[in-house]
Order: sequence, then C-alpha cells, then structure tokens
Amino acid sequence: MVFHSWSGVSLSVCGLCCCSFYYIFLDMSEFRELFSKAKHIAIITGAGVSAESGVPTFRGKNEKWRKWLSQDLATPEAFSRDPSRVWEFYHYRRELVMNKKPSAVHLALAECEARLKKQGRSVVIITQCIDDLHRQAGSKHVLNVHGSLMETRCMSCGHVSVNKRSPICAPLKNKGDPGPDVPDAQIPVDKLPRCAERECNGLLRPNVVFFGETLDSHILTKVEKEIETCDLCLVVGASSIVYPAAMFGPRIASRGVPVAEFNIHTTPKSEYFMYHFQGPCGTTLPQALAQHESEVF
Ligand SMILES: [Zn+2]
Repeated sequence: MVFHSWSGVSLSVCGLCCCSFYYIFLDMSEFRELFSKAKHIAIITGAGVSAESGVPTFRGKNEKWRKWLSQDLATPEAFSRDPSRVWEFYHYRRELVMNKKPSAVHLALAECEARLKKQGRSVVIITQCIDDLHRQAGSKHVLNVHGSLMETRCMSCGHVSVNKRSPICAPLKNKGDPGPDVPDAQIPVDKLPRCAERECNGLLRPNVVFFGETLDSHILTKVEKEIETCDLCLVVGASSIVYPAAMFGPRIASRGVPVAEFNIHTTPKSEYFMYHFQGPCGTTLPQALAQHESEVF
C-alpha cells in the first residue's frame, strides 16, 4: 500500500524526490479510469465533510457544550432525565447548521449524482452527518445512517417529520448558548417541542441516533443493499472509528470492489482501501469526480 498526499508531504515508496508527485497523479488518473466505468457508486461521508462547511461535530474531546461532551447529552438516559437541557443542545446545533452553506465537497457530490444520472449511472450517499447539507446541496439519494437534526420523532406515537422551524418552539428562542457558565433554561416538559399529530401531543425528540442506540433497521437494510451492489466506493471525511459505519468501506473492499479514501489524515481503515487521497476533501474530491473525457451524454 502506498500513501500519497496532496499537501506535498508524501509517504510514498521514495519520498525524497519528485517521483512522489508522479505517483500522486498516477493514482488519481488510475482512480479516474475506474470512476469513468463505474455504474453504481456508493459514497460514504463523515464528520470531515461537515467540517468543510464549518459545522462543529462534537466528536472531539475539546468540543464541549457548556460543561458537557456530546456523549453526556446525546443519550436516551440524558434525554429522559433532562429533556430541556438536551433540547437546548440540539436547538443550538440546529440553529448553527441553518446558518451554514454546503461546501465544495457537498456541491461536487450533488453535481456528480445529477450528471451521472443522465448517463444511466447512480450515486448514493451513505452519510453519518446529521446536518442535512447534502440535501441542501441538491443530492437526492441520501441515506442518513445517524438521522437528521432537521427531523423530529415522537416519543409517544413514533411519528417522524421534517422540521426546519427556527426556533423549533417559542421557549427555545435565544436559548442554547454554549458558554460554560450559562445556566440551563429549565423549560417545562409540556413547553418543549410536542407532536402535532392528531390528539397525540407526545414529547418530540431529535430524530438522531443517540450514543448507545442501534441504527434504524429500515435505513440499515437499504445501506446493506448498496454495500452489496456498488461497483466503486468513496469514503470521504469519515474518521472510520464510529461503528457500524466504520466497517461499510472495508466490507465493500472485501468484495474486491475498489474503495478510495479521501481524508485530511490517514485513518485506522486506510490500509483496507485501494486508494488514499490525503488532503482537504474540498480540494481532492472535486478533481476526482470531475467530468471524465470518456463520459457520454
Ligand atoms: Zn405523536
């Protein structure tokens, strides 16, 4: 396995001379040949793609909201103990995302899907991101394995709905400040977001997968089908440490299907993949997915 870097720091077989740059372009041109022939491309995206749009992911040790890490708040236990605090945290994240724009990565993926569709080829995005920026960019075939910040689920009737209201309910207006000394809003539970389905009025929660919860089986079934049928896979900005999503790429590679990883760093799964393009995904990915000379419309 030979790693190549777009930042100029090469971990290639030589690393001492300009041949490292030669290998970078050789790999990319080889990947582009495979890309031009692929009929069904699965693209797995993760936190690095959100970061390209400036969305904090609350995965790092320093990414605290008030005194807490995400894993202290994004759990079923925390929600049942203090739904007001957890809603404040998610209200803050929703409002942040509403002010962000799709990045060059999101736009390149959406453009690629639309272009290839005209050629009878398909692109599916399997994402761990919960920020909805793929859809905002125009991607149509998106599987949100960790749910969406812009959806709610009723704790009583289970109804899931898209909800982009700002604020999601009046008492959360101007709440959610992440400062370490900001007091909790302590909103009464009957004033938090409630289900609008007829006669339900159940408490709503964000329709995201909390720590310790299993993934939605309906989504997972669709993901399984894509894993089994794709003929090319890209793993973009995914740290490959969050399971089970971390194994999607290696499982595809184990079928002998080419997998290309795009990441600013190497990851624990880089060794499983045929290609590793290191550098900001906003630079590497648009080049990789640009129209190939052999594409016929
Ligand atoms: Zn309900």
